[in-house]
Amino acid sequence: MASDLDRPVTSLTGVGDRRALVLENIAVRTIGDLLHVLPRRYLDRSVESVITDLSEGQEVTVVGTVESTETIPGRRPRVQMTIRDDSERLTCVWFGRYAAADRYSPGDSVAVAGKLKRYRGCVQMVHPEVEAVGGEEDDDRIHTGRVIPLYTTSEEMKDAGLSTRTLRGLIRQALDTCPIEDPVPDWIRKETGMLGRGEALSLLHFPEDTADVDRARDSLAYGEALEVQLWALRRRLAAGPSLSSSKSGTLARELMDGLPFELTGGQLRALEEIQFDLQSGRQMHRLLQGDVGSGKTLVALLAALTVVEGGGQVAIMAPTEVLAEQHGQTLRGLLGGFDVVVTVVTGSRPRAEREASRSLIAAGQVSIVVGTHTLIQEDAIFKNLQLAVIDEQHRFGVDQRSALGEKGDGEAPHMLVMTATPIPRSLSLTLYGHLDVSVIDELPPGRKPITTGWRLAADRSKALMFARDQVEAGRQAYVVYPRIEGSKTSEMKAASEAHAELQGGVFVGHSLGLLHGRMKAEDKLSVMDRFRAGDLDVLVSTTVVEVGVDVPNATVMMVEHAERFGLSQLHQLRGRVGRGPHDSYCILVVDPDGDLTEDAHQRLEAMVRSDDGFEIAEEDLRIRGSGQLFGTRQAGLPEFRFVDLVRHTGLIETARGYAGRLLETDPDLAEHPLLARRIARLEEAGFRVPTAG
Ligand code: ADP
Ligand code: MG
Repeated sequence: MASDLDRPVTSLTGVGDRRALVLENIAVRTIGDLLHVLPRRYLDRSVESVITDLSEGQEVTVVGTVESTETIPGRRPRVQMTIRDDSERLTCVWFGRYAAADRYSPGDSVAVAGKLKRYRGCVQMVHPEVEAVGGEEDDDRIHTGRVIPLYTTSEEMKDAGLSTRTLRGLIRQALDTCPIEDPVPDWIRKETGMLGRGEALSLLHFPEDTADVDRARDSLAYGEALEVQLWALRRRLAAGPSLSSSKSGTLARELMDGLPFELTGGQLRALEEIQFDLQSGRQMHRLLQGDVGSGKTLVALLAALTVVEGGGQVAIMAPTEVLAEQHGQTLRGLLGGFDVVVTVVTGSRPRAEREASRSLIAAGQVSIVVGTHTLIQEDAIFKNLQLAVIDEQHRFGVDQRSALGEKGDGEAPHMLVMTATPIPRSLSLTLYGHLDVSVIDELPPGRKPITTGWRLAADRSKALMFARDQVEAGRQAYVVYPRIEGSKTSEMKAASEAHAELQGGVFVGHSLGLLHGRMKAEDKLSVMDRFRAGDLDVLVSTTVVEVGVDVPNATVMMVEHAERFGLSQLHQLRGRVGRGPHDSYCILVVDPDGDLTEDAHQRLEAMVRSDDGFEIAEEDLRIRGSGQLFGTRQAGLPEFRFVDLVRHTGLIETARGYAGRLLETDPDLAEHPLLARRIARLEEAGFRVPTAG
């Protein structure tokens, strides 16, 4: 059931084999693909001005004749093209190399658009858009007298005659000859006021004004968001049955009663939601979000006990050995009085021990298995795995996460995934829209706010002295060094050198530990143990301490080269302190190679301004922009063309609401075959939103 949008581009007049090949290089094979080529910019040719009438700073379009083009060499080489109309001359300047200017010769008619400058009596435009005018299609209504779209064209495309002008003609032809069905049902479109797909694509390429472009983009974004939400909700509804032995939660209750503190409201709510899922008879897929230090581990443990009580096994997977061992210790500590066997499985435990654990697990004599990715290796066999918990899930790939889910024998275990730091709503709905979400939105009471400040490298020794004062008052401190681009060795070197320098300098007489990724696992663990036990006063470390480490007596987090860290990473690091009853401090030392970049400055200021992970996550997205969500591609984030995760939070939420309503009446999308087809394609194409029918 192919639609017109699936027709090959060669079905358009003017596209032969040669052009088709060139178009394929920009991923355009079908008419649908062509219509989804985004205009790079628009040129307003509805009002064309006369040069003399124009004033400084105006955005204008001017049509004139080329008088000369020249390349001016020098320290800042530039290309200059002078054009004139009936009134005056205008000089266009492009700094650097500008290949396109070669294409125009004296006598050509061109339209140029940009911001006007008057400079020493001359009229100038810097880096304007240019477009040839005239030729056979002179009076064609799509190229003149209106807002016209400009497309990015490669040299190869131009050689094949595919100029921005030709593309514009082809797109017009496609719009005129190809009926475009709207996947979004009429009633949703009416209620939301969104444009249909045909109209939106048409306005995207041929708008009357910039407001049209925004409307077109939002409407197309809405369509994308709706499809992704439908996909996510359907996946959620498709969760299979699970082993549904009823669990009363007695063990969990007993553990709670024995704790020296009360669970926070957020923890209790999350636990209730999880326990409800565990008893629902359907497989749980739940994301547990909470700020750093909100006590996610404890909630996971209580959930684990609920499963253990019903006779099931639980696997808890952590991203590092340090964290796995820490969880093991925490669990054993908390479960002291309980008859629940906990085993830690990591790659660096001795072989004999690993094999012994393996057979105990396979025999069902272990209830809770904590480990790293070793848990998902081929030879790990569980007896009755009913719950898989994945801590700091962003550290794992999609495959690793689902591999743990496949370790159940027979039926799939319940899945509980936890994030290290909160993520923005728009991102969470998109990336984890297929999961149910529990949010722990408060920290345990009595946490002191962490005083955060950033300092220039000149004040580094003051910062260090402050840390020493804390150590002398009985507290502990972290000093963290960043990963250095492309080199694990230099990160290690920076930390090792600092360790030597600090031990012989400001911290003389105190005991310093060193922790970096190149150390043997057992050495790492023994350093962490000594730090936790208070034998070490200061831990000089690379970012290995970033996630999860919990040492309540530590009160200073000093981050070197803080300008190199991402915002959520800084927030994670800061979360290593403020875990006990003492006032805590986070000192960000800044030592850029050149000037501090604006983005880095904004990140540092955001850290000082807020200690709320949810706020920081939104800020991070805003600073980075939607296009640069680094690394999220593999993690299953759909590749949107129109959705902007910074601007479109509201739109995504609305789309989710409508997706839910639609599925209530048509769960299999039987009455919406077009949507069903597009959603199937979404998955096939590795989450690239389809351009097809
Ligand atoms: P995260 O959510 O970052 O993984 P953790 O689970 O490591 O946080 O918990 C941080 C610390 O808070 C731990 O030392 C834990 O024992 C403690 N904690 C957890 N819940 C509470 C509570 N309700 N009241 C007081 N302390 C708590
Ligand atoms: Mg944690």
